[in-house]
Amino acid sequence: MTNKSAEDAQKFLASIVEHAEDAIIGCTPDGTIESWNQGAEKLFGYCGEEIIGQNIVALAIDEAIPAVNAVIQRMKRGEAVHPFDGTGVTKDGRRIEISCSASPVKDADGTLVGVAAILRDISERRRADEARALLAAVVESSEEGIIAVSLDKTVLSWNRGAQAIYGFPAEDILGKSVFSTIIPPERVEEFNGFFARVLAGETLIRFESERHHKDGRKIEVSLTYCPIKNPNGKVIGVSAIVRDITHAKATQQALREANENYRALIHNIPDVIWMLNSNDEVKFLSPTAEKIFGYSVAECYARGVALLFDSIHPDEAQQVKRMFQLFFEEGTPFDMEFRIRRKDGEWRWVHNRAIQTFEKDGLRYASGLVTDITQRKAAEQSLRESEQRYRLLFERNLAGVFRCSQVGNFLDCNDAGAKILGYDSREDLVGRSVLDVFFDLADKDASDQRMAQYGTASNQELCMRRKDGSSVWVMANTTMVPGASGTEIEGTFLDITLLKQAEEQMRLAKEAAESANRAKSEFLANMSHEIRTPMNGVIGMISLALDTDLTPEQRDYLATVKSSAGALLEIINDILDFSKIEARKLELERVPFSVKEVVRATVKDFSVQARNKHLSLQCDFSADLPDTAIGDPGRLRQVLMNLVGNALKFTNHGEIMVRVMRLQDNALQFSVSDTGIGISAEKQKSIFEAFVQADTSSTRHYGGTGLGLAIVSQLVGLMQGRIWLESKAGSGSTFYFTAHFGLATAIPANDESHAREESSSLMPTRKLHILIADDNLVNLRLARSLLTKQGHSAVTVGSGREALGAVEKQSFDVVLMDVQMPDMDGFETTKVIRAQERISRKHLPIVAMTAHAMIGDRERCLAAGMDSYVTKPVDAKKLFAAIADALHKDSTSNVPQSENTPPPAPVPRRIDLDR
Ligand code: ADP
Repeated sequence: MTNKSAEDAQKFLASIVEHAEDAIIGCTPDGTIESWNQGAEKLFGYCGEEIIGQNIVALAIDEAIPAVNAVIQRMKRGEAVHPFDGTGVTKDGRRIEISCSASPVKDADGTLVGVAAILRDISERRRADEARALLAAVVESSEEGIIAVSLDKTVLSWNRGAQAIYGFPAEDILGKSVFSTIIPPERVEEFNGFFARVLAGETLIRFESERHHKDGRKIEVSLTYCPIKNPNGKVIGVSAIVRDITHAKATQQALREANENYRALIHNIPDVIWMLNSNDEVKFLSPTAEKIFGYSVAECYARGVALLFDSIHPDEAQQVKRMFQLFFEEGTPFDMEFRIRRKDGEWRWVHNRAIQTFEKDGLRYASGLVTDITQRKAAEQSLRESEQRYRLLFERNLAGVFRCSQVGNFLDCNDAGAKILGYDSREDLVGRSVLDVFFDLADKDASDQRMAQYGTASNQELCMRRKDGSSVWVMANTTMVPGASGTEIEGTFLDITLLKQAEEQMRLAKEAAESANRAKSEFLANMSHEIRTPMNGVIGMISLALDTDLTPEQRDYLATVKSSAGALLEIINDILDFSKIEARKLELERVPFSVKEVVRATVKDFSVQARNKHLSLQCDFSADLPDTAIGDPGRLRQVLMNLVGNALKFTNHGEIMVRVMRLQDNALQFSVSDTGIGISAEKQKSIFEAFVQADTSSTRHYGGTGLGLAIVSQLVGLMQGRIWLESKAGSGSTFYFTAHFGLATAIPANDESHAREESSSLMPTRKLHILIADDNLVNLRLARSLLTKQGHSAVTVGSGREALGAVEKQSFDVVLMDVQMPDMDGFETTKVIRAQERISRKHLPIVAMTAHAMIGDRERCLAAGMDSYVTKPVDAKKLFAAIADALHKDSTSNVPQSENTPPPAPVPRRIDLDR
């Protein structure tokens, strides 16, 4: 380089130094300032003349002077000095932050000839640094989480707030992906979406989402995402401000729910809550108001307090307004029931009561509660009315009505009750003891007992004592009820004295009627005796006469007389049967028998008659009929005879069929069908009543008493069955009846009917000597003829005494003893004979003969010591059977009984109701 150019370069350099922005100061090695450029002048305020020649420490603050000197010393020693920062002071005393770099200036020999210091004002930078540090501290200590995330979604910064919210300490999360830490899987997509928007420059303010806490729990967060840009404006990351709103959310939710509950409550409680103010405004009215007032809530708000007050019933309006005013102004309690008129004009009862009054913003407020009590009022009203009604019912009742305490004092009673018991009034009776009105305390005890057991005692007929001591019969119903004094007794009673008298009269009348009925039965029995006895004679004698030599004409006449007498006897039998049933004196037998045989025998009995009328008469049995039934074959036969007899009587062409089948309940159903004249529907209704015949013309034509079906239906009833018919006038009839029989497996060998026949066949072949005692001559003759015709010998006597005489004188094989004889009857006579036999130790067989056919006759005869029994008119077959029976008994047991212990009445094997 030329000198010239070196000089130029020097100048150029000096110019740069002179004009440089930084302060460039040249010093001696001791620090004395030798050069001072424009930058230094600008920085420190000194011009060159002012400062050159001073030591450089003049530019440092006092505290920094030692450090400046230390630097000078180091420079002198040739040690390196690194740039350093310090605080300088300007000409006007201002402190400035400066950075300083000092470099040694050496000559060609390397000797230190000076120091060049370059100083720069760094106050700005300092301030910026401090501000940054402050910001970082703010960020770090923020309660809110502040997080920076890089573009690749890893966490770059993580403050204490974030740690508190998410639980992760910074060292655990910095540099890690947000997905592996705080973003739950279901939020990844949302996060990516938001992230992308922020990367595009958008700021997302306070959106809500969910994040993971370190402990695995979900937390609700509010997030603000901001792009982080570099100085060039390029987005280099995303910052997030996080706030934990889990608690806030829960509070919010609770608040929301409370609000909803409150709304629901206000909507649903039937009561109306109201709030008014002194401006006559309605400030609150629950929606239910509409139900009560009929006005919508909006209308109420719009029309104010006046609307509510104007709808109060005129009777109550004044009072309500006055009381309300007192409440509103002075806080006097307000609680009233009154009527209001709904919008539709209907009156309703409401209960309005105040809650409170208070002042707000210079206005006075009051609130309260309205309840619709219309229903309650109506119920109260109807209760009052019904109480009134019951009171009247009680007071005006014609029956006595009373209430008494459990210890037995009248608590209340109506006038009728007092009157029945002979007291002047209710007041006269109330307070007295019930003991005063009972005649017999046993009645009270009985009533008390029933009440204790069942709580009530009904239809008690009691004889009560009236006040004057007289008696009155009452019918009382009492019941226990809970009352004010514990359990009480309530009841009603009626005066039944007249009824009782009538009852007594009826009882007497009934007794009279019963005794008349007994007299009737006895009369019938006697009459049957009286009629049977002569009939006995008539039929017996005719039979005897028919056995003698007669002209054909005489025989014909006698045969006709015999059949007429037979018919007459049948009628008498019918009447007797009927009256026996009426008097309930007919009982059925229970013996084993064959139903089929009974039916067959009946059909057989009518076969001749059927043949004569050219009618077919048949019977038919279902396959399941039992072989043996237990019941009364005689009565079954009687029923069948009647029905088949009628069928034959009222049928002129065709056939008669008797059918028997078994029903489900073991009953048997019998039917008798004919193809006869039939019975009109009208007549069918009454055909089973006594003395009814289908029509009088047919009676004349066919004969009959009209008793047959009445007896039949009664007998069927006794057999626990029923009878009915199907018929059409002109085309035949079918009579059905059912009967219940006991079932037996087989007819025992000693069947009664067989036994009878057997015993008649047991009639000894030897000739018997027989005593006949009867006051009836015809009967005597008849019996004697029947016996003598069989080769037996007979002695006849007309009274009991004569019989005793005869027995003393002669020995007889058997005695036929009429029961009813003048002087000494058959029972008496038998007793005497039996008494004598206690000494003789013999036994004379005695057969009772009686026209009585009532229940008990047979037993009486047997009890009197007779051995068997035969009813009159005496029929040869029956007579011989009875004699055989008596002899048979004699042969089996002939030890006479002691008189003191009369022989036990032999249990009749069969109650003989034979006529
Ligand atoms: P009676 O003894 O007079 O025959 P019933 O009581 O046996 O009396 O019968 C009453 C009436 O019922 C009879 O008079 C007759 O008119 C009518 N009757 C009974 N059975 C028959 C029948 N099978 N067909 C037509 N009429 C009958």
